[in-house]
Amino acid sequence: SKNQTLQLNDGHSIPQLGFGVWQVESDVAEDVVAKALQVGFRHIDTAEIYGNEEGVGRAIAKSGIPREQLFVTTKLWNDNQGHDSALHAIDASLERLGLDYVDLYLIHWSQPEKGKYLETWKAFQEIKDSGKARSIGVSNFTPKALQDVVDTGVVPAVHQIELHPSFNQQHMREMDARNGILTEAWSPLGQGKEELQDETIGRIAEAHRATPAQVIIAWHLAIGNVVFPKSVTPERIQQNWDAQQVTLTAEEIEEINGLTREDGRLGSDPADFND
Ligand code: NAD
Repeated sequence: SKNQTLQLNDGHSIPQLGFGVWQVESDVAEDVVAKALQVGFRHIDTAEIYGNEEGVGRAIAKSGIPREQLFVTTKLWNDNQGHDSALHAIDASLERLGLDYVDLYLIHWSQPEKGKYLETWKAFQEIKDSGKARSIGVSNFTPKALQDVVDTGVVPAVHQIELHPSFNQQHMREMDARNGILTEAWSPLGQGKEELQDETIGRIAEAHRATPAQVIIAWHLAIGNVVFPKSVTPERIQQNWDAQQVTLTAEEIEEINGLTREDGRLGSDPADFND
Protein backbone atom coordinates (compact mmCIF):
# COMPACT_ATOMS: atom_id res chain seq x y z
CA SER A 1 0.00 0.00 0.00
CA LYS A 2 1.20 3.51 -0.73
CA ASN A 3 1.58 6.41 1.62
CA GLN A 4 0.71 4.61 4.82
CA THR A 5 0.23 6.90 7.79
CA LEU A 6 1.01 6.20 11.44
CA GLN A 7 -0.84 7.58 14.44
CA LEU A 8 0.97 10.02 16.73
CA ASN A 9 0.27 10.12 20.48
CA ASP A 10 -1.42 13.53 20.13
CA GLY A 11 -4.11 12.34 17.71
CA HIS A 12 -2.46 13.56 14.51
CA SER A 13 -1.09 11.20 11.89
CA ILE A 14 2.17 11.16 9.93
CA PRO A 15 3.04 9.64 6.55
CA GLN A 16 5.50 6.87 7.39
CA LEU A 17 7.68 7.46 4.33
CA GLY A 18 8.97 10.96 3.77
CA PHE A 19 11.69 12.86 1.95
CA GLY A 20 14.74 14.39 3.69
CA VAL A 21 16.75 17.39 2.50
CA TRP A 22 19.88 17.60 4.65
CA GLN A 23 22.89 18.89 2.67
CA VAL A 24 20.69 20.08 -0.16
CA GLU A 25 21.22 23.72 -1.11
CA SER A 26 18.03 25.81 -1.13
CA ASP A 27 17.60 26.16 -4.92
CA VAL A 28 18.30 22.46 -5.41
CA ALA A 29 15.86 21.69 -2.60
CA GLU A 30 13.17 23.54 -4.53
CA ASP A 31 13.71 21.25 -7.52
CA VAL A 32 14.06 17.96 -5.68
CA VAL A 33 11.12 18.60 -3.34
CA ALA A 34 9.04 19.39 -6.44
CA LYS A 35 10.13 16.02 -7.87
CA ALA A 36 9.40 14.21 -4.60
CA LEU A 37 5.91 15.72 -4.41
CA GLN A 38 5.33 14.73 -8.03
CA VAL A 39 6.15 11.05 -7.39
CA GLY A 40 3.84 11.01 -4.36
CA PHE A 41 5.81 11.98 -1.24
CA ARG A 42 3.70 14.15 1.09
CA HIS A 43 6.09 14.35 4.05
CA ILE A 44 9.19 16.59 3.94
CA ASP A 45 11.87 16.68 6.65
CA THR A 46 13.92 19.89 6.83
CA ALA A 47 15.56 21.98 9.55
CA GLU A 48 16.55 25.55 10.29
CA ILE A 49 20.24 24.56 10.06
CA TYR A 50 19.86 23.00 6.57
CA GLY A 51 19.46 26.50 5.13
CA ASN A 52 16.85 25.33 2.64
CA GLU A 53 13.50 26.12 4.25
CA GLU A 54 12.90 28.79 1.61
CA GLY A 55 13.47 26.37 -1.27
CA VAL A 56 11.28 23.76 0.39
CA GLY A 57 8.57 26.40 0.85
CA ARG A 58 8.74 27.49 -2.77
CA ALA A 59 8.34 23.90 -3.98
CA ILE A 60 5.32 23.46 -1.70
CA ALA A 61 3.71 26.69 -2.88
CA LYS A 62 4.27 25.88 -6.54
CA SER A 63 2.98 22.31 -6.21
CA GLY A 64 -0.58 23.46 -5.66
CA ILE A 65 -1.09 20.53 -3.29
CA PRO A 66 -3.57 21.48 -0.55
CA ARG A 67 -1.73 22.26 2.67
CA GLU A 68 -3.71 19.73 4.69
CA GLN A 69 -2.41 16.93 2.47
CA LEU A 70 1.21 17.75 3.31
CA PHE A 71 3.29 16.96 6.38
CA VAL A 72 6.19 19.35 6.95
CA THR A 73 8.77 18.96 9.70
CA THR A 74 11.39 21.50 10.71
CA LYS A 75 13.79 21.65 13.63
CA LEU A 76 15.03 24.24 16.11
CA TRP A 77 18.80 24.71 15.91
CA ASN A 78 20.97 24.46 19.00
CA ASP A 79 21.79 28.14 19.38
CA ASN A 80 18.07 28.90 19.59
CA GLN A 81 17.43 26.67 22.58
CA GLY A 82 15.80 28.59 25.42
CA HIS A 83 12.26 29.91 25.89
CA ASP A 84 12.17 33.24 24.05
CA SER A 85 14.63 32.25 21.34
CA ALA A 86 12.52 29.16 20.52
CA LEU A 87 9.41 31.32 20.16
CA HIS A 88 11.32 33.55 17.73
CA ALA A 89 12.85 30.61 15.86
CA ILE A 90 9.50 29.04 14.94
CA ASP A 91 8.29 32.37 13.56
CA ALA A 92 11.44 32.70 11.47
CA SER A 93 11.14 29.13 10.15
CA LEU A 94 7.47 29.66 9.22
CA GLU A 95 8.39 32.90 7.47
CA ARG A 96 11.08 31.15 5.40
CA LEU A 97 8.79 28.22 4.64
CA GLY A 98 5.92 30.53 3.72
CA LEU A 99 3.60 28.49 5.95
CA ASP A 100 1.20 29.28 8.79
CA TYR A 101 2.14 26.14 10.66
CA VAL A 102 4.43 23.12 10.52
CA ASP A 103 3.09 19.65 11.15
CA LEU A 104 6.01 18.76 13.38
CA TYR A 105 8.60 20.88 15.19
CA LEU A 106 11.62 19.17 16.73
CA ILE A 107 14.36 20.17 19.16
CA HIS A 108 17.28 19.18 16.91
CA TRP A 109 19.75 18.01 19.62
CA SER A 110 19.32 17.62 23.37
CA GLN A 111 22.65 19.32 24.18
CA PRO A 112 22.66 17.81 27.66
CA GLU A 113 25.55 19.89 28.99
CA LYS A 114 23.78 23.15 28.14
CA GLY A 115 20.83 22.12 30.27
CA LYS A 116 18.28 24.11 28.26
CA TYR A 117 16.11 21.36 26.81
CA LEU A 118 13.40 21.51 29.49
CA GLU A 119 13.02 25.27 29.13
CA THR A 120 12.92 24.78 25.36
CA TRP A 121 10.33 22.03 25.71
CA LYS A 122 8.12 24.41 27.69
CA ALA A 123 8.29 26.87 24.78
CA PHE A 124 7.45 24.01 22.41
CA GLN A 125 4.24 23.37 24.34
CA GLU A 126 3.31 27.05 23.85
CA ILE A 127 4.15 26.74 20.16
CA LYS A 128 1.82 23.75 19.89
CA ASP A 129 -0.92 25.58 21.80
CA SER A 130 -0.56 28.57 19.46
CA GLY A 131 -1.15 26.29 16.44
CA LYS A 132 2.22 27.11 14.86
CA ALA A 133 3.17 23.44 15.15
CA ARG A 134 0.54 20.71 15.10
CA SER A 135 2.86 18.24 16.81
CA ILE A 136 6.10 18.63 18.76
CA GLY A 137 8.94 16.22 19.31
CA VAL A 138 12.65 15.78 19.86
CA SER A 139 15.72 14.58 18.01
CA ASN A 140 19.05 13.23 19.21
CA PHE A 141 18.07 13.03 22.87
CA THR A 142 20.09 11.02 25.36
CA PRO A 143 18.05 8.49 27.38
CA LYS A 144 18.23 10.82 30.40
CA ALA A 145 17.12 13.88 28.43
CA LEU A 146 14.25 11.90 26.89
CA GLN A 147 13.16 10.69 30.32
CA ASP A 148 13.28 14.26 31.70
CA VAL A 149 11.05 15.47 28.87
CA VAL A 150 8.64 12.55 29.27
CA ASP A 151 8.45 13.33 32.99
CA THR A 152 7.01 16.79 32.22
CA GLY A 153 3.82 14.94 31.30
CA VAL A 154 3.89 16.28 27.73
CA VAL A 155 5.29 13.33 25.81
CA PRO A 156 7.05 14.06 22.50
CA ALA A 157 5.17 12.79 19.46
CA VAL A 158 8.38 11.49 17.87
CA HIS A 159 12.05 10.95 18.60
CA GLN A 160 14.21 11.37 15.50
CA ILE A 161 17.52 9.48 15.81
CA GLU A 162 20.31 8.06 13.67
CA LEU A 163 19.09 4.60 12.70
CA HIS A 164 20.06 2.24 9.88
CA PRO A 165 20.83 -1.49 9.61
CA SER A 166 24.37 -1.19 10.97
CA PHE A 167 23.14 0.95 13.89
CA ASN A 168 19.61 -0.13 14.66
CA GLN A 169 19.19 1.57 18.04
CA GLN A 170 17.19 -1.26 19.54
CA HIS A 171 17.37 0.15 23.06
CA MET A 172 16.29 3.65 22.13
CA ARG A 173 13.51 2.26 19.92
CA GLU A 174 12.26 0.27 22.92
CA MET A 175 12.38 3.31 25.20
CA ASP A 176 10.49 5.37 22.60
CA ALA A 177 7.87 2.64 22.17
CA ARG A 178 7.38 2.19 25.91
CA ASN A 179 6.53 5.87 26.12
CA GLY A 180 4.24 5.96 23.08
CA ILE A 181 6.77 7.92 21.03
CA LEU A 182 7.24 7.11 17.34
CA THR A 183 10.84 6.61 16.29
CA GLU A 184 12.00 8.46 13.19
CA ALA A 185 15.14 7.14 11.48
CA TRP A 186 17.70 9.65 10.26
CA SER A 187 20.39 8.64 7.76
CA PRO A 188 18.16 5.62 7.09
CA LEU A 189 20.40 4.45 4.22
CA GLY A 190 23.55 4.96 6.27
CA GLN A 191 24.18 8.06 4.13
CA GLY A 192 24.53 5.88 1.05
CA LYS A 193 27.84 4.37 2.24
CA GLU A 194 28.80 0.74 3.08
CA GLU A 195 25.29 -0.26 3.91
CA LEU A 196 24.21 -0.22 0.28
CA GLN A 197 27.12 -2.59 -0.52
CA ASP A 198 26.29 -5.05 2.25
CA GLU A 199 26.22 -8.66 1.07
CA THR A 200 23.10 -9.65 3.02
CA ILE A 201 21.18 -6.60 1.80
CA GLY A 202 22.36 -7.35 -1.74
CA ARG A 203 21.16 -10.94 -1.62
CA ILE A 204 17.74 -9.92 -0.27
CA ALA A 205 17.50 -7.22 -2.94
CA GLU A 206 18.13 -9.75 -5.70
CA ALA A 207 15.48 -12.06 -4.30
CA HIS A 208 12.92 -9.23 -4.54
CA ARG A 209 14.22 -7.79 -7.82
CA ALA A 210 14.65 -4.60 -5.84
CA THR A 211 17.62 -2.35 -5.11
CA PRO A 212 19.58 -2.33 -1.82
CA ALA A 213 18.16 1.11 -1.00
CA GLN A 214 14.64 -0.23 -1.47
CA VAL A 215 15.31 -3.20 0.79
CA ILE A 216 16.62 -0.95 3.56
CA ILE A 217 13.61 1.39 3.25
CA ALA A 218 11.28 -1.64 3.29
CA TRP A 219 13.01 -2.82 6.49
CA HIS A 220 12.43 0.56 8.19
CA LEU A 221 8.77 0.49 7.20
CA ALA A 222 8.40 -3.12 8.39
CA ILE A 223 9.85 -2.44 11.85
CA GLY A 224 7.63 0.62 12.32
CA ASN A 225 10.06 3.51 11.83
CA VAL A 226 9.15 6.78 10.19
CA VAL A 227 11.78 7.19 7.47
CA PHE A 228 12.81 9.94 5.03
CA PRO A 229 15.66 8.96 2.69
CA LYS A 230 17.42 11.79 0.92
CA SER A 231 18.25 11.86 -2.76
CA VAL A 232 18.76 14.58 -5.33
CA THR A 233 18.59 12.10 -8.24
CA PRO A 234 15.13 11.91 -9.87
CA GLU A 235 15.34 8.15 -10.61
CA ARG A 236 16.36 7.41 -7.03
CA ILE A 237 13.59 9.62 -5.62
CA GLN A 238 11.11 7.51 -7.61
CA GLN A 239 12.89 4.30 -6.58
CA ASN A 240 12.78 5.24 -2.90
CA TRP A 241 9.04 5.93 -3.15
CA ASP A 242 8.51 2.57 -4.86
CA ALA A 243 10.20 0.79 -1.94
CA GLN A 244 6.72 0.70 -0.40
CA GLN A 245 5.98 -2.18 -2.76
CA VAL A 246 8.74 -4.36 -1.31
CA THR A 247 7.48 -6.71 1.41
CA LEU A 248 10.20 -8.53 3.32
CA THR A 249 9.71 -11.87 5.02
CA ALA A 250 10.01 -12.14 8.80
CA GLU A 251 13.26 -14.03 8.27
CA GLU A 252 14.72 -11.30 6.06
CA ILE A 253 13.77 -8.66 8.64
CA GLU A 254 15.59 -10.71 11.31
CA GLU A 255 18.65 -11.02 9.09
CA ILE A 256 18.77 -7.25 8.62
CA ASN A 257 18.23 -6.73 12.37
CA GLY A 258 21.38 -8.81 12.82
CA LEU A 259 23.57 -6.37 10.88
CA THR A 260 23.77 -3.87 13.75
CA ARG A 261 27.22 -3.14 15.24
CA GLU A 262 28.47 -1.35 18.35
CA ASP A 263 30.56 0.94 16.15
CA GLY A 264 27.91 1.48 13.48
CA ARG A 265 27.21 5.11 14.35
CA LEU A 266 28.03 7.61 11.58
CA GLY A 267 27.08 10.88 13.21
CA SER A 268 27.58 12.43 16.65
CA ASP A 269 26.58 10.78 19.90
CA PRO A 270 23.87 13.04 21.41
CA ALA A 271 25.68 12.85 24.78
CA ASP A 272 28.84 14.35 23.31
CA PHE A 273 27.32 16.96 21.02
CA ASN A 274 27.05 20.10 23.08
CA ASP A 275 28.40 23.00 20.98
P1 NAD B 1 20.44 8.87 3.83
O1 NAD B 1 20.76 7.75 4.74
O2 NAD B 1 19.04 9.15 3.44
O3 NAD B 1 21.36 8.67 2.54
C1 NAD B 1 21.29 9.58 1.47
C2 NAD B 1 22.32 9.18 0.42
O4 NAD B 1 22.09 7.83 0.02
C3 NAD B 1 22.19 10.00 -0.84
O5 NAD B 1 22.94 11.19 -0.73
C4 NAD B 1 22.75 9.05 -1.89
O6 NAD B 1 24.15 9.07 -1.86
C5 NAD B 1 22.29 7.72 -1.37
N1 NAD B 1 21.02 7.24 -1.98
C6 NAD B 1 19.76 7.71 -1.76
N2 NAD B 1 18.85 6.99 -2.43
C7 NAD B 1 19.55 6.05 -3.12
C8 NAD B 1 19.18 5.00 -3.99
N3 NAD B 1 17.90 4.76 -4.31
N4 NAD B 1 20.17 4.23 -4.52
C9 NAD B 1 21.45 4.44 -4.21
N5 NAD B 1 21.87 5.40 -3.38
C10 NAD B 1 20.92 6.21 -2.83
O7 NAD B 1 21.15 10.17 4.46
P2 NAD B 1 20.75 11.51 5.17
O8 NAD B 1 20.46 12.58 4.21
O9 NAD B 1 21.82 11.73 6.18
O10 NAD B 1 19.42 11.19 6.01
C11 NAD B 1 18.12 11.38 5.51
C12 NAD B 1 17.44 12.55 6.19
O11 NAD B 1 17.46 12.40 7.60
C13 NAD B 1 18.15 13.88 5.97
O12 NAD B 1 17.98 14.38 4.68
C14 NAD B 1 17.50 14.69 7.05
O13 NAD B 1 16.20 15.07 6.64
C15 NAD B 1 17.45 13.70 8.19
N6 NAD B 1 18.60 13.83 9.11
C16 NAD B 1 18.39 14.32 10.36
C17 NAD B 1 19.44 14.45 11.25
C18 NAD B 1 19.18 14.93 12.62
O14 NAD B 1 20.14 15.28 13.34
N7 NAD B 1 17.95 14.99 13.09
C19 NAD B 1 20.75 14.12 10.86
C20 NAD B 1 20.94 13.62 9.57
C21 NAD B 1 19.88 13.48 8.72
